[in-house]
Amino acid sequence: MCREKILMDNLDRVEKMISLTSQKAASQEAVSLMAVTKYAQDKDVLALLAAGRLKHIGESRVQQAFLRWTSPAFAAYPVVKHFIGHLQKNKAAKAVMLFDFIDSVDSLPLAETLSRCAVQQGKTLRVLVQVKLTDKQSQSGLALPQARLLAKQIAGLPGLCVCGYMAIAPQTDEPETLRGLFRLVRKAFEEDFPAGKERWLSLGMSADFAVAVEEGSTLPRVGSDIFARNLEGL
Ligand SMILES: *Cc1c(COP(=O)(O)O)cnc(C)c1O
Repeated sequence: MCREKILMDNLDRVEKMISLTSQKAASQEAVSLMAVTKYAQDKDVLALLAAGRLKHIGESRVQQAFLRWTSPAFAAYPVVKHFIGHLQKNKAAKAVMLFDFIDSVDSLPLAETLSRCAVQQGKTLRVLVQVKLTDKQSQSGLALPQARLLAKQIAGLPGLCVCGYMAIAPQTDEPETLRGLFRLVRKAFEEDFPAGKERWLSLGMSADFAVAVEEGSTLPRVGSDIFARNLEGL
């Protein structure tokens, strides 16, 4: 089977799963898939773009993403670009230039820097606050109470539209533990970001997006299930 067909099948499978699970979800909100393109080859991303199959994309390295998405072949496609990695302040201006969303805001100084850059560039930047669901030191993000506090603190900053939470689940947990963690974030999200305004809850990756969507994620982030599955050695 050719590479493009496999990619399309992968995307079909992910979208079908999202559609099935979102019907079971309590929240009944529209769900958008974010295709995480950080490890994907250019030709694979371009194949899906040309087929009109990508709407939201996620990248985690500023410089690499900038080179890719400002190149003529990529820049022609109007996709919504999300930054989902750890953002260093010295790369903030460039990130604000390229991305529509920064989904990994986890400190007041970073939010203030983003706000300044957005004002300077005359744009409104949408941001999500990153919630940490593990005790691991290495993982970025804030514990839920601190994340909620930060969301309040930065709500009025000029140039920013604070519109939800992003969280990365621990890898080793049981599905039911995971479900409980997702549920806690969703509950906070519903209190802090009432319906009526633009809002996003970004939970779930390749390993756990079905559970995440069942628990109310509106922006699951899927990379390897689209760009790596069944493509080893091809
Ligand atoms: C890489 C990454 C993903 C995608 O992970 P997969 O397991 O490949 O689907 C999602 N979210 C974040 C924050 C990432 O860094």
